[in-house]
Amino acid sequence: MNANAVVEVAVPRPLRTTFDYIVPTTMAVPPVGARVRVPFGAVTVVGVVAGHSRVSDRAEKAVEDVLDETPLLPTDLTDLARWLARYYHHPIGDVFATLLPAKARRGVPATLLKEVVWHWTGQEEAGKLARAPRQREAFERLRNLGSIFESELAALALTRPHLAALVDKGLARSAVLAPRYGVPETWTHHLTAEQAAAVSTITATLGTPTTHLLDGVTGSGKTEVYLRVIAEVLRAGGQALVLVPEIALTPQTTARFKACFGAAATLHSGNTDTQRFDVWLKCARGIHKVLIGTRSAVLAPFENLALIVVDEEHDGSFKQGDGLRYSARDLAVKRGQMLEIPVVLGSATPSLESLENARRGRYARSVLPSRAGGASMPAMRIVDVRGLRLDRGFSEALHGAIDRHLDAGGQVLVFINRRGFAPVLLCSTCAWYAACEHCDAKLTLHRRPDRLRCHHCGHSRAPPRTCPACGASAFVHVGTGTQRAEEALAERYPDVPRYRIDRDTTRSVRRLEADLAAIREGRPAILVGTQMLAKGHHLPNVTLVAVLDSDAGFLAADFRAPERTAQLIVQVAGRAGRAERPGEVWIQTFNPDNANLMALTNTGYAGFAANERRVRADARMPPFSAVAMIRAESRVESKAWGLLGEILGTLPAGAVEVLGPAPAPVARRADHHRCQALVLASRRADLHFALDQLEAAEPKAAGVRWSIDLDPIDTF
Ligand code: ADP
Ligand code: ZN
Ligand code: ZN
Repeated sequence: MNANAVVEVAVPRPLRTTFDYIVPTTMAVPPVGARVRVPFGAVTVVGVVAGHSRVSDRAEKAVEDVLDETPLLPTDLTDLARWLARYYHHPIGDVFATLLPAKARRGVPATLLKEVVWHWTGQEEAGKLARAPRQREAFERLRNLGSIFESELAALALTRPHLAALVDKGLARSAVLAPRYGVPETWTHHLTAEQAAAVSTITATLGTPTTHLLDGVTGSGKTEVYLRVIAEVLRAGGQALVLVPEIALTPQTTARFKACFGAAATLHSGNTDTQRFDVWLKCARGIHKVLIGTRSAVLAPFENLALIVVDEEHDGSFKQGDGLRYSARDLAVKRGQMLEIPVVLGSATPSLESLENARRGRYARSVLPSRAGGASMPAMRIVDVRGLRLDRGFSEALHGAIDRHLDAGGQVLVFINRRGFAPVLLCSTCAWYAACEHCDAKLTLHRRPDRLRCHHCGHSRAPPRTCPACGASAFVHVGTGTQRAEEALAERYPDVPRYRIDRDTTRSVRRLEADLAAIREGRPAILVGTQMLAKGHHLPNVTLVAVLDSDAGFLAADFRAPERTAQLIVQVAGRAGRAERPGEVWIQTFNPDNANLMALTNTGYAGFAANERRVRADARMPPFSAVAMIRAESRVESKAWGLLGEILGTLPAGAVEVLGPAPAPVARRADHHRCQALVLASRRADLHFALDQLEAAEPKAAGVRWSIDLDPIDTF
């Protein structure tokens, strides 16, 4: 044996083990968390050092190159990676790959982008630039302005080489610009007593692993609470992470943090790979103090993280839907415990899990029961539409209410959780309907351009002119989507400006921002939209919120459907009457006796949650059990079922309960047949034990993909 060191490397492949590599004696031993280039099979890959081992009989191949002298991933993240692999029963190689930004995965060096600023040194050019007219021009500009920022170069029609030349000649001095974080000396608002109590409760736990549930109605000033606590964090030299469901949809939130602290970094799907890696590195090195990000930001590295906030903690977008199916909310809590820092979960409609954790005393709870600034909560009213003739989803009574609110100078928000024109295109002669060729799903009709679109796989085609089954040419549009609701409103209120906000219209963030700005000017207007409207917008002049159809959500098969629907209704309702004007919420239903709906309108979200808690307890569903969903998918139906059967066979008898196997609610999607089973256990440890056995059996079959979704949030 020689004295070569051996490192354990996580390679970016869906493999459940790390691999040992010899470090040649000519190389410094890379630290844990550093990237290395290693041979793997026939190729060379970029892996991460996950550990050191002194001797190994597995190590045959050698590290080819060490990419980082200092760890790219700090130890808390390499620890977290191991925890993630165990908890989500996910291949360790893939976990490490998920932690790294795309550029880091490709082996790009960890160097920071620098925004440079050039200052005039005070010297005159004294003929030095006589033969360089462009440099002279740059110099004139610089002398006039005193300094020029890199970001201004294009606007000034200058380039870096011109200014670099000035530096060489002693006429300019360059400096790297760092974001400047600060804390306000005075605050605009005087905190309410409840806000002040929440701030001091949370602040008192800085430096301890405490999770707080900040349960505050929409508009109660939760964001204000976050800002005050973060100010304390910054004063003490710490960093803060704020997780939000969607950044592009809520530019105001980011603007508010930037205005408060002078700077704030953002991490979201709109970033380029270059920006992403840069923000990531600057958080790791403590240059950024405040990071606002969507789901994946929970995996960002920090030098001195002191607080994590999860705003709208109930939101489903915090759960990753494929690959490493983590919940950013749960991971935030885990990171808080590992780093011994507080985590604040804020929501007007907390998840049943978080409510239960608060109830059992695991989370500290702060309540903001009323709106900040004196606005009142909107009144809710149920409209029984049984037996009524509806005009594309609108009852006459609802139209009357819209008239009244528009006449009174208010704005109206119509919520319908379905984009497109109509969810079903039906032949009026033979009842044929348009279905997706690749999925077990109906196609949604979209207008302008006329297309039938599958909301599951993205397939689209032109609508038929004649029925493919009987040749007749008369079709009926069944149901109402946002486009159709907008059409109905356009006919009835031709002079009132309308704004449609759904995934089809918000592809352009600029357009959304322009629309929101126009809406905030406050003149009478009608907004039609999907759940995108529920997300945190402050729309002070909306006085009427209409929920066109509350039934579909409450009746859906998924066990979380009632919770999700109640949250949506309360969140959309929360857009109404946020300013001086009181708001009203109208909810149309064919099912006015629905227990969920009655609980919600009579006793609010808290009453609904108390009811739903009993339902979950009786059904032994989360938070009263731990659940994993196991799914198999294949182009060949029998193969998927075959492997799922085998997988379920590896589970130890007695420890867990299995519901299924059964076809997935969308049993075929993008030409893949899908079947699934829920595995339940009253104790989480039993579930993990069972899944460990499953993992150890390494089930596989050609042409079948299978996955474990721990703590699934929906079963579609
Ligand atoms: P949330 O995050 O709970 O929806 P925000 O923090 O956005 O609530 O506050 C809602 C509105 O009330 C904002 O316009 C905010 O500026 C204002 N606000 C917050 N706290 C106060 C306060 N203590 N006094 C007056 N207005 C406040
Ligand atoms: Zn037909
Ligand atoms: Zn499809």
